[in-house]
Amino acid sequence: MSISSLFTHKSPVVSFEIFPPKRDGSLVNLNETIRSLATLKPGYISVTFGAGGNGVNASTWEIARSIKDDFGIEPLVHLTCISHSKEDIDEILLRLKAYGLKNILALRGDINPDNPPKKDFTYAGDLVNYIHTQGDFIVSAACYPEGHPESESLVQDTLNLKKKVESGATHLISQLFFDNNLFYSFLDRAKLAGIAVPIDAGIMPVVNKKQIERMVTLCGASLPPKFKRIIDKYEDKPEALTDAGIAYAIDQIIDLISQGVDGVHLYIMNNPVIAERIYSGFSSLLK
Ligand code: FAD
Repeated sequence: MSISSLFTHKSPVVSFEIFPPKRDGSLVNLNETIRSLATLKPGYISVTFGAGGNGVNASTWEIARSIKDDFGIEPLVHLTCISHSKEDIDEILLRLKAYGLKNILALRGDINPDNPPKKDFTYAGDLVNYIHTQGDFIVSAACYPEGHPESESLVQDTLNLKKKVESGATHLISQLFFDNNLFYSFLDRAKLAGIAVPIDAGIMPVVNKKQIERMVTLCGASLPPKFKRIIDKYEDKPEALTDAGIAYAIDQIIDLISQGVDGVHLYIMNNPVIAERIYSGFSSLLK
């Protein structure tokens, strides 16, 4: 099934992102996570690729295959290109075909100074183009409500996003954000630029202190005063921070749904309990 075909505008599509466990992490736990997520009947579950280093103990496509075959949910396979040659990508695409995995989130990947980029792909749009030459895949891509950190301006970033969509991306997932107004401004820019594919709002519930520090360094999302007050007050009270982080995410989602968002993509850090708590806070709005 094509993920872009899920967006019928009757009800927003809810989806989750999971990541392969690190070498010392358990696949059994991940299976239990997927089992719990499947009971919430998400539109799809995406599986990250290579994010955070190489030390993972299961490949993205093995996990995606299990999501599809064992749990009957559509998987979205993340695939980055900056550290890969065409031959590497060909090999992965062949594997995806063999597993019947059709939906790919085509990404450039972060530039790592210790690992010089390979020459075959410069931007995610190059990968989007290439994937379409290699078979009957459906391609999604990433977008950045506050602009990608490397882009010179929001306008330029939007024009680059337009090129990526014109390369054949039929659905977009946004970077996480904590200020819905920034997302609405981004939607306005995208519309003005003529980008008409469905766009999922990326929401990450912040439930522990370590996560906040990591996230701010990695993605540079701006923290609105209301959010900062919560962090400052509860950062050393884990239970309170979890409750407040979940409530903040639900509040964002309710606002997004009432504004008619296409979909909500939840970065749940492989934590099914958090996913269930958030989902139960807005599921009645989907009926
Ligand atoms: P691009 O779309 O190529 O954009 C990168 C930069 O180049 C931007 O500044 C853009 O404005 C510019 N640009 C784009 N096209 C052009 C053009 N034609 N001409 C000139 N400039 C251009 N990383 C992982 O390693 N693994 C993952 O699984 C992963 N999953 C992600 C999921 C989501 C939803 C998001 C938002 C990010 C994810 N990332 C992941 C991080 C991502 O790889 C980084 O943010 C990376 O820095 C940019 O990737 P991109 O695909 O958006 O790149």
